[in-house]
Amino acid sequence: MKLFSISKSVHIPKFKPTERFSGITVMDAGKTLYYSLSQQHNLVCEPAVKRGDRVLVNQVIGVSTNKSVVPVYCGVSGTVKQIVQKYDLAGDKVNMIVVENDGLYETMERKAMNYGAMSLDEIKDAVKDLGVIETQNLSNRKRGMHLSFRSNPKHILLNASESGLYGVLGEALYTSVKDDFILGINILKDIYKAAEISLLITSDAESLAGFTDAVAGTGVKIVAKVPTQFYHDMNLAARDVYGDFAMKDTMVIDAFMLPSVARGLERGELSHTDLIMVSGEAAGKKGMYRVPHGTPISEIMAAAEVKEPFRIVAGSILSGNAVFSTEAPVNRGIKELLFLTEAEVSKEEEVNCIRCGRCADVCPVGLKPYDLNASVIVRDFDSFFAERGGMCVECGLCSYICPSKRHLTQSFKTAKKVKR
Ligand code: SF4
Ligand code: SF4
Repeated sequence: MKLFSISKSVHIPKFKPTERFSGITVMDAGKTLYYSLSQQHNLVCEPAVKRGDRVLVNQVIGVSTNKSVVPVYCGVSGTVKQIVQKYDLAGDKVNMIVVENDGLYETMERKAMNYGAMSLDEIKDAVKDLGVIETQNLSNRKRGMHLSFRSNPKHILLNASESGLYGVLGEALYTSVKDDFILGINILKDIYKAAEISLLITSDAESLAGFTDAVAGTGVKIVAKVPTQFYHDMNLAARDVYGDFAMKDTMVIDAFMLPSVARGLERGELSHTDLIMVSGEAAGKKGMYRVPHGTPISEIMAAAEVKEPFRIVAGSILSGNAVFSTEAPVNRGIKELLFLTEAEVSKEEEVNCIRCGRCADVCPVGLKPYDLNASVIVRDFDSFFAERGGMCVECGLCSYICPSKRHLTQSFKTAKKVKR
């Protein structure tokens, strides 16, 4: 196992050349899978199985009575080897269920749902029960990490703008999972007959052409934004597309979750894999990988022929976390893994703050990142919270825009873990 320092963060390289990957490498589930019971923001499940139990594909292995927490499903059949505390990507010790895969893939059947005959509350529960993890809606922690269907929205905004470096990840939505993506749009049209549906994408030529073609005839309106203008926070995306007062009438949906939700509502299927973009100069085989949940990063490194990365970043392009351990499994919802060489990282070394104020200009919640960071550096967490540091939605915009490459977002993530 290789451990990395996360006390110094990584500044995501800017203006990376456009990379288009053809095809998807489908990884088989390994011999041992590690299912984390933690779902970010201190939301955790309790194990629903014990050491020695036989488990099946689709079996619930982690549950919670907290309505914000989605269940954890097993993606293979086999035996629960143990339930252990293990480092996650960010270096926190969390409970994980270790399953030995017997390779038989014996499956617990699930029935297709007749969502047309269900009430909105029943549909909401059914969506939550699919166990998909949303990573974009960080300002709405009370609702948790599952996708929310709400009552009577005037607008539905499908957010595909956080689609990796220059829209590369978004390509999956109009190619490999297009049928389920369109099925998801049609399900939304069925449930919300009066709502206008828009699709927020990056404005690179490939995304524009691909998405325009994919949604032709569905009545979905395309809203294209410049490639570096990512919308990690759904409420802010709604505000920018429909105006200041539109947030309460808008339901924003992570477009990358829609195919999984569609498969679940239409056919009762669960998703046991995530599509992850692997990039960075330490990766010999960059590209798109379909990775089974519970797979440790070390196995992805072997598949992608990663050689001696200096730092690893997991997450999304702007707000990825520096990875602590190569034995940590990828969390559900992870979309990108960057394996960076020392040369790539040192090009992005932070230098002194020049008080230019750009970080404050871009902060969607009106914080002063330079002041917050100054407090964190001297470990003055009282000032950090007094200056509303706890409101940070970890969007990453301040770090991305900073000419001095200050590790602002990572610093705030760390500070927010400090108990007051
Ligand atoms: S953008 Fe960077 S250099 Fe400019 S004020 Fe903020 S932290 Fe300082
Ligand atoms: S402080 Fe930085 S990461 Fe936090 S909300 Fe503001 S811009 Fe985003």
